Amino acid sequence: MGKRALLNIDYSYDFVAEDGKLTCGIPGQAIEDAITSITKEFIETGDFVVIAMDAHHEGDDLHPEAKMFPPHNIVGTPGRELYGKLATLYEDHQDNPNVYYTDKTRYSAFAGTDIELKLRERGIDEVHLVGVCTDICILHTAVDAYNKGFQVVVHKAGVASFNKAGHEYALQHFENVIGAKVI
Ligand code: ZN
Repeated sequence: MGKRALLNIDYSYDFVAEDGKLTCGIPGQAIEDAITSITKEFIETGDFVVIAMDAHHEGDDLHPEAKMFPPHNIVGTPGRELYGKLATLYEDHQDNPNVYYTDKTRYSAFAGTDIELKLRERGIDEVHLVGVCTDICILHTAVDAYNKGFQVVVHKAGVASFNKAGHEYALQHFENVIGAKVI
């Protein structure tokens, strides 16, 4: 059996808080305890934990999201900070060498980041996913992980979306199309 890692995606103030700039709203807030306890469990077992966080810059009109979404997760703003109890957990473990925080600029955490290299260096072949939104950044990350040959595990209690139908569709897609385990 290979090694596992947790990819914790976009659980920021802007994506989760009631007054976040592009919020999942109540479904996002409802996973706070689960996403925090799943992340804590991976940290305690010594597994590799990646916090992948959307990073945008004000006025970046060339970015493909610029025409679709309002400005969100702008670098240097409080909106990009981790939300709630996950923020506290990260503060307590940010010096842990197995906890890796990295910016991302696209839906997929693999696009333009060195996350794949970090996973390969550690011999990891199973990628666990938590975060938001199920049908956007989690979905795109899961599809990339599948295409790169990783086994994908999605923690149902640790993902959420503002779009209920999109959330349900993505959970089915994980299982039926990319052979992921949804647990
Ligand atoms: Zn974005």
